[in-house]
Amino acid sequence: MPKNTLVQYKGGGYDGNFWEWNYCWFDSKGKFHDIFSSGYKGCKNATELKNKNPDQYRYNFDNQEKVREFIRESADHHVLMVAKWLYANFSRYADNMIVTCDSCGEEFPSNQAKHSGYEGAGGIAIAYTGFVCESCQRNEECYEQGDVEPVIMIMKKG
Ligand SMILES: [Zn+2]
Repeated sequence: MPKNTLVQYKGGGYDGNFWEWNYCWFDSKGKFHDIFSSGYKGCKNATELKNKNPDQYRYNFDNQEKVREFIRESADHHVLMVAKWLYANFSRYADNMIVTCDSCGEEFPSNQAKHSGYEGAGGIAIAYTGFVCESCQRNEECYEQGDVEPVIMIMKKG
């Protein structure tokens, strides 16, 4: 079993050909934790992961280079989802996830981030993009009081 490792795999599969990235975590004892799973290809345990999803990307979070690779290669809203989950469950690994603020350029742990924007993704989803640090968030709130924060919307087919 992998340890202290994030696994990214193709889950979803609502109508046979639509998939989305799903995530799970193997802790220091190699125990499976579901971070996000969806559709019939989503996995609730290690056996399902082994049987359903041979195509996986594995990122060992003891290796800072692999953490950087995950952040670089993944959609921003997935990075933030994983960071928030790790922060709640295995916080020392969340501290390894460093991103750069779009506003001031400072590096900071991504679990403190908010996104700086959002975009449509093929009419299926609206995805957050970018990262803004806490002090820039506070500055923005001074100028934009009363703004309603957009919500991630993923409309699942079927
Ligand atoms: Zn900033």
